[in-house]
Amino acid sequence: MSDLHKCGSILVTGASRGIGLQIVETLMKSNPRPGKVIAAARDRSRAKELNRLAESHPDLYIVTLDVTKKDDIEAAFKEVESLVGDKGLNCLVNNAGIKVDSTLSEVTAEEMMKNFEVNAVSPLMVTKAFLPLLRKAAKQGTGMGIHRAAIVNVSSARASIQRKDTHVKWYPYCVSKAALNMVTKCLSSDLLGEGILCVSVNPGWVNTDMGGPQAHLTKEESIDNILKVISNLSEKDNGGFLNHTGETLPW
Ligand code: NDP
Repeated sequence: MSDLHKCGSILVTGASRGIGLQIVETLMKSNPRPGKVIAAARDRSRAKELNRLAESHPDLYIVTLDVTKKDDIEAAFKEVESLVGDKGLNCLVNNAGIKVDSTLSEVTAEEMMKNFEVNAVSPLMVTKAFLPLLRKAAKQGTGMGIHRAAIVNVSSARASIQRKDTHVKWYPYCVSKAALNMVTKCLSSDLLGEGILCVSVNPGWVNTDMGGPQAHLTKEESIDNILKVISNLSEKDNGGFLNHTGETLPW
């Protein structure tokens, strides 16, 4: 995890609980760590653990961000801009997500749209809004990675179209994460020339509200792995779909 300090600033969406909160918590406890850690939560009043963490770490910044709300995105952009200043933003982690479970017989258009909105459309809109800050950071560095400018989309193994055991009870979720992977691929080629890297990362099956208690990984195990992957990102990873253990997953 030692290269994390080369990242001047990192913004994590969906940091009120689960994987997002654990990323922020692990970063705040890491030494060395990124210069500025910014946690985005849609409702601070309900993010009790995040608020507690901020009490013991006054240098943790919290911004309000419902990733589906344009006004929130614009307000969060202004706040982050004032925090990072001329250095820009080095790493954006699009982690906020929901999982709508629905089989073929149950699934509705509304469920599909809701999952698609939060998991695929919103990461693209958040990224688009924060591009000026990522570009500012990218102009000041060379090579590719979190030391310069990177977008990390938290995807899922369920996004993999080539997987044989695709969970057909999760139409909205699987489809939305497959779409997110295409967002990653498009951004990675669009932004390559500007030195901004984009990857999808699968955190594994993690014990969170979403993953449930039977999950294979604790939050700590998954996030230790994810942060290793993130800190080692380089040009060869651009546009990739990486497992939390570092290997490439089939699309
Ligand atoms: P949780 O359900 O535990 O947490 C989800 C987080 O996303 C919460 O912070 C929640 O905020 C936030 N969120 C949801 N909707 C919005 C929104 N509209 N705007 C802003 N924030 C929002 O899930 P996990 O921590 O487990 O999942 C995090 C990411 O990891 C997701 O993208 C998920 O798909 C992915 N993932 C998780 C796996 C697992 O096993 N846990 C496996 C594979 C992928 P709030 O507290 O306000 O609801």
